[in-house]
Amino acid sequence: MSIAPQRRTSKTRKRLRRTHYKLDLPGMMVCPNCGELKLAHIVCKSCGYYDGKLVKEIPIKEDEEKVTEVKTDKKAKKEAKKEVKKAKSSKKEQEK
Ligand SMILES: [Zn+2]
Repeated sequence: MSIAPQRRTSKTRKRLRRTHYKLDLPGMMVCPNCGELKLAHIVCKSCGYYDGKLVKEIPIKEDEEKVTEVKTDKKAKKEAKKEVKKAKSSKKEQEK
């Protein structure tokens, strides 16, 4: 048999020990170029500047525009459906 602790560690002792295990925030700073929060000593993700110089060009995000376009498409479809329903209901009313 292998060695074993003489006494079982109680829930409280275990939990007290683990109160020191916690995540800490990474070194963040405000970008002097664009004002976004960025990691210190790393090129800014939103503007691509480091130490006042453009290091990496960040392409303009097209996803946001696409998302809005899709939303508008969905809205248009919904509106079209509503109009069809309205037309049907008005026809029924007319028949009555
Ligand atoms: Zn920046």
